[in-house]
Amino acid sequence: MPENVQQDNCCSPDGGEEGFTHEKRLGWHEYFMSVAHLISRRATCTRGHVGAVLVRDNNILSTGYNGAPSGLPHCNETTCKIYRSTHPDGTVEENCVNTIHAEINAIAQAAKHGVSIKDADIYITASPCIHCLKVLINVGIKTIYYDKPYKIDHIAELLRLSGVKLVQIHVEMP
Ligand SMILES: [Zn+2]
Ligand SMILES: [Zn+2]
Repeated sequence: MPENVQQDNCCSPDGGEEGFTHEKRLGWHEYFMSVAHLISRRATCTRGHVGAVLVRDNNILSTGYNGAPSGLPHCNETTCKIYRSTHPDGTVEENCVNTIHAEINAIAQAAKHGVSIKDADIYITASPCIHCLKVLINVGIKTIYYDKPYKIDHIAELLRLSGVKLVQIHVEMP
């Protein structure tokens, strides 16, 4: 059997002509956002599932998803504990008191394992809340890639003042 036929067989699910070898190769942005979506499937807060990936030089430094602190009951095992707060513009928002957000967990994992995240970018399946954005600014994140907008009006002023870029990368997940 010729060598090229063996390669086709190894890379296509059915050994046929329409296998993976003919699919369009993922770009870097789609690649990291797809990883973030996959990570979001580990999330445990029933109010929403978010995944985050810290990246520098096309290399994954750390990942996180939203959920309760390690060893404590997760929302999907008990219930979400909701608190309400009023934003300065008068809008009332609800959050879950159990939950650490995905981007903060990615930063915590990096700190725990001694991984430098200076000058990294972050891919998050939802745009950051204002509290997480403040931490991302102090980490030195230059660009935040997000898929779905989340309370995005609340962070407009902070983005403008900080110079952090917010870029939407939408990927269709199977
Ligand atoms: Zn929750
Ligand atoms: Zn947040």
